[in-house]
Amino acid sequence: MAERYGAYIGGKWVNAESGETMEVINPATGQVAALAARCGPADVDKAVRAAVEAAPAWAGKTVGERSKVLLKLSQIIMANQEHLARLETMEHGSPIRKTMNFDVPLAAEQFEYFAGAARAMTGETLPVGPWCASMTIREPLGVVGLITPWNFPALMVVWKLGAALVTGNACIIKPPSVAPLTTLKLAEMAAVAGAPAGVVNVVTGPGETVGEALVKHPDVAKIGFTGDTMTGKRIMKLASETVKPVGLELGGKNAFIVMEGADVDSAAAGAVWGAFFNSGQVCAAASRFYIHESLYDEFSKKFVLAARQLRYGDPLDMGTVMGPLAYRAHRDRVEDYIKAAKEDGAKLLLGGERPDTPETRNGFYVAPTIFGDCTNRMRFMQEEIFGPVVGLVCFKTADEAVSLANDTRYGLSASIWTKDVRQGLVMAGRIKAGTVWINEHLIIFCETPWGGCKESGWGKDLSTMVLDEYTMTKHIYIDLIGQPERPWHGLLK
Ligand code: NAD
Repeated sequence: MAERYGAYIGGKWVNAESGETMEVINPATGQVAALAARCGPADVDKAVRAAVEAAPAWAGKTVGERSKVLLKLSQIIMANQEHLARLETMEHGSPIRKTMNFDVPLAAEQFEYFAGAARAMTGETLPVGPWCASMTIREPLGVVGLITPWNFPALMVVWKLGAALVTGNACIIKPPSVAPLTTLKLAEMAAVAGAPAGVVNVVTGPGETVGEALVKHPDVAKIGFTGDTMTGKRIMKLASETVKPVGLELGGKNAFIVMEGADVDSAAAGAVWGAFFNSGQVCAAASRFYIHESLYDEFSKKFVLAARQLRYGDPLDMGTVMGPLAYRAHRDRVEDYIKAAKEDGAKLLLGGERPDTPETRNGFYVAPTIFGDCTNRMRFMQEEIFGPVVGLVCFKTADEAVSLANDTRYGLSASIWTKDVRQGLVMAGRIKAGTVWINEHLIIFCETPWGGCKESGWGKDLSTMVLDEYTMTKHIYIDLIGQPERPWHGLLK
């Protein structure tokens, strides 16, 4: 019988008011892995009330006290490393090799980072005149809603939760419907670490009901959202009704540019990592490859050869490096893009099919897929696929490469592979994206800001910049004249 999870509200596991549940499917087997509460607006309201009650006392603690809760949480995560890694592998399909060695340790490290970063937060004193003292202070926003995607179930919530918690906010998390379990466990662990009841709440259920109820709720001060651009647009619209700020980390269609004279071996290795890590289900995944004409043949051969070595299969096997896609409908959508690429005339160089082995037959697998002879006009080169499917384009000049890279509605990330760092830096300045890597793709640190431009969203996660996202800057002015008449009162006389 599948394990049943409630929502986590006010420090307690609770069923949905309706009593309804939803299935969490293991994407490697297609079988039901667990049942989660299918909440609705009434459950959101209950969570908001719990958070509103808990918020003042949490905001009233010193940053040092909150920081200690995060450090303890980080330790609890590592003490439960294998349990959390297995849970994430089961609900998401990410290989255990990755969840054990990457997602869980990084989640723990990020809580440590936020615990330290917030303690260095400062306000300012502003020298506006000798007759006053003028200063800024940073205050928590109150109750914040955090809506997260399924592609890194633990990390995507930690990026927001760590920053929101340490700055003194009470949080209501709406985790992804296809993979809500890791988030629920993290909320329970936060309570064990010392977060008071109501400070971390998780309401599971569909985005259209639970997510929208959270966005519309008048007592929620801000929405931190990571997900699809279409959903982000809907959230912006709904949030405008209560003039609620929203942080939007949205989709990407990221360029990978190989310049004349680049180190092809290094670029090919970086391409495999950038395109196929997490089965390509990464907002910053390399998906549009622009290769200088002098290296196009050599790069394509080396890239295909290296990608062919990727071992996909049972994600619970430590030897597996590529798991299934996270859910059936997503696999079908990725396959539609493969079909569209073929119809548009792209040349299939690798993959393009479902692997058919006893291990993968029932799961939602798509083999690493590389198309050559592509152009930006092909639909699959413009829309976010969010799977292991990429296209290669040949270019002649640096100007052409920059203009091809910028020919997208997204602006999340890009990489430039070159031995000429000056050229790389000049090009990086011309590419419209939140992050540009030179001779690397897809490396993110706690210390470096993350966030896009154009239809990839706005606002920052990670780095000290995220602390601004979850605090309000208040200006306080203190009169030092100490007399009823001020010089400027003359304007009214
Ligand atoms: P999604 O937009 O479908 O869902 C994200 C979350 O929003 C889920 O919890 C979902 O239930 C909820 N949601 C759905 N509809 C909603 C609505 N109308 N109102 C409120 N909430 C709603 O995205 P996804 O498929 O889970 O994730 C994949 C997307 O996330 C990709 O586009 C990817 O690029 C993006 N992403 C971006 C970043 C980044 O940092 N920019 C990081 C990871 C993923």
